[in-house]
Amino acid sequence: MSARVLVVDDVLPNVKLLEAKLKSEYYEVTTAQSGIEALENVKKRIPDIILLDVMMPDMDGFETCRRLKSDPETADIPVVMVTALTDVGDRVQGLNFGADDFLTKPINDLALFARIRSLVRLKGMTDELKLRGKTGLQFGISDEINSRINDTRGAKILIVDEDVAESQQIGNKLREIGMHVDVTPDPPKAVGMSEQFDYDLIIVSTQLSSDDGLHLCTHFRSQERTRNTPLLIIIDDNNTELLVKGLDMGINDYLITPIDSNEVVARTKIQVRRKRYQDALRSSHEKSMYMAVMDGLTNLYNRQYFDMHIEMMLRSHISQAKPLSFMLIDVDHFKKINDTYGHLCGDEVLRRIPMIMIRNIRPTDFAARYGGEEIAVVMPNTTLSQAADVAERIRKSIEGYPFNLAGEGGAIKCTVSIGVSSSTQNDNTSQLISRADKALYHVKNTGRNRVAAFSDSGTKVSSDKR
Ligand SMILES: [Mg+2]
Repeated sequence: MSARVLVVDDVLPNVKLLEAKLKSEYYEVTTAQSGIEALENVKKRIPDIILLDVMMPDMDGFETCRRLKSDPETADIPVVMVTALTDVGDRVQGLNFGADDFLTKPINDLALFARIRSLVRLKGMTDELKLRGKTGLQFGISDEINSRINDTRGAKILIVDEDVAESQQIGNKLREIGMHVDVTPDPPKAVGMSEQFDYDLIIVSTQLSSDDGLHLCTHFRSQERTRNTPLLIIIDDNNTELLVKGLDMGINDYLITPIDSNEVVARTKIQVRRKRYQDALRSSHEKSMYMAVMDGLTNLYNRQYFDMHIEMMLRSHISQAKPLSFMLIDVDHFKKINDTYGHLCGDEVLRRIPMIMIRNIRPTDFAARYGGEEIAVVMPNTTLSQAADVAERIRKSIEGYPFNLAGEGGAIKCTVSIGVSSSTQNDNTSQLISRADKALYHVKNTGRNRVAAFSDSGTKVSSDKR
């Protein structure tokens, strides 16, 4: 995997050393020797990750990081703080300024590359989601994200740890900042809990007597419900090998024992924010997908989606020699309803008809808003006379439904006319629709509030039930 890395350090030999290491692993490297230079560099070309020295004259790493993270253009670039200091307080400060991780000099190569891979992979995912959001309808994405990510209260955390003192220390610290914490020492129990609740973060100790904890992490990664749940492992200081294994299999972060409470809080907050950010992106994507195929008024599929879908359904039915039926429902005298009671009442009628209809069709039937006051229903594996019976039930229940429209004093009557057709061996969608359309016109011209079903030869199969 190739990625662009920006190395920032005020000491030239440090820059050169990191540059050489990264280039040997085929990373593309750019460098900067001050915070200001780094910010300028980033504006020119966005890197995939930034390795940022803490101790620099003029603008230090913390301030540089703060500026990067507060600019929407650069906020998503993962930042790894690099320092000679091993002071935990410094680490926490970096994380509070929005840094994604911390490395201490001299840098351990394995940890460095594993960390970069893991962060670059995560950024790739976020970029992809953002792109999908953009190609969608851009429905309130930024507002939603902003409001969701910054508040980490109420987050649900699961801790899997046999060390009672350690899990209590973490649990209490997280509860203090308003998070819900579940604790279990038992991996099978943890699996059960993860199937029952949606956690925002799962913390797994790698010092379990039964396991190294990573098997449990692999399990969480493989399950639908926890596939995107951030995983944080608790690991012994010198167990680099296990850490690299963990990062490669997709854990998001780690804590080194003995644990510092402030670091727990900082890292947990970062993971929860990231999860909420991704959830928000994902749901806004789903929302734009939903809006692209649904009709907002009736909550039925829209015409565009209907056109695509009926084509596919018809083809598969013909190939399996199964009958596909189609009905076109038109609200009688809809213009009069609009003129008499107003357009809001007309809308209300259109909103309610699908709700009445839905009780008379099967879940596998496919309903869409076909035109202004026309609704189309496609019925898989249904013969013409069966479809005509369904149509008649729909007609009857709408006729008997009291449309109590708000503010209009009492119920109004509303009826529908329905034309039905069914597929034949050499059919195509326009012929199928056109036969239903003809049947519908026949009803419209002969008194409305009726059902007509036309076979392919133009014969009426059933109609005129009242
Ligand atoms: Mg320095």
